[in-house]
Amino acid sequence: MEKRNIYLSLILLLTLLSAIFIYQISISNTIQTNISRIKSNSSNKHTNNSDSKSSKADTSTSDNSTNNSSTNDNSKSSNSSDNSNSDSSSSDTSQTDNTDEVKKIAITFDDGPHPKYTLKLLDGLKERNVKATFFVIGENVSNNPDVIKRMAEDGHLIGNHTYSHVQLTCISEEKAITEINKTSELITTYAGVSPKYIRPPYGMYSDALKRETNLTPVLWTVDPRDWSVLNTDSVVKHVLKRAKSGDIILLHDIFDTSVEAAFQIIDALKAEGYEFVTVDEFIKVN
Ligand SMILES: [Zn+2]
Repeated sequence: MEKRNIYLSLILLLTLLSAIFIYQISISNTIQTNISRIKSNSSNKHTNNSDSKSSKADTSTSDNSTNNSSTNDNSKSSNSSDNSNSDSSSSDTSQTDNTDEVKKIAITFDDGPHPKYTLKLLDGLKERNVKATFFVIGENVSNNPDVIKRMAEDGHLIGNHTYSHVQLTCISEEKAITEINKTSELITTYAGVSPKYIRPPYGMYSDALKRETNLTPVLWTVDPRDWSVLNTDSVVKHVLKRAKSGDIILLHDIFDTSVEAAFQIIDALKAEGYEFVTVDEFIKVN
């Protein structure tokens, strides 16, 4: 009886063990399935990610506008770096401005010499250490030899403005040449230098006269019409509003208002770093 009981309990035990074994296998299978599911899911996710990446890449490649905008952004940033460059270059510019004072400008006076206003002008120019260019009329040279002598002594450039302020293209070539040569001779006599430049009255000149006289014509770039307005303030405002490096300012030293304007213009432009030069720095002789 006891043996039977033992057998029975052994069989029960074995059954139980096998049941446990089977159960464990099924569990492990489930776990493995789950794991593989999870794995497959996660690999799917990866695939999705790579898809989204590739789709992103597609977007970025196919969406030209995106590219363009990014390019634009790049260009913007390069612009901004350009800006910073230009900022630095602007500081460079200001450096050149500083080194410069290379901002050069010429102030010129026509129709003198005048016994009073030209002398006043010469005093003011000397005080300011400014060299100017004078285009003188032969008649006035004859009448004011001391003034033109001083003009030359002070180091200003003297040019020809005809003997009697005629419009050279309205008279015969012979008369025109006489007007010019007579004045050049007077300048040579009183100033001790032979003029190389001419400012033809009203800006009118001809190729024939250029060849015949061998003088280089000089016009102007800033004209406040000082002879017409006869007002210091408006002349100063006109010039300061327009003046830039390389300009040739036209004034007339036969008016007190113009001489006063010249001083204010010089003081203001010097404060801005301008250097006053004579026109031979801008216009080389023929
Ligand atoms: Zn004139």
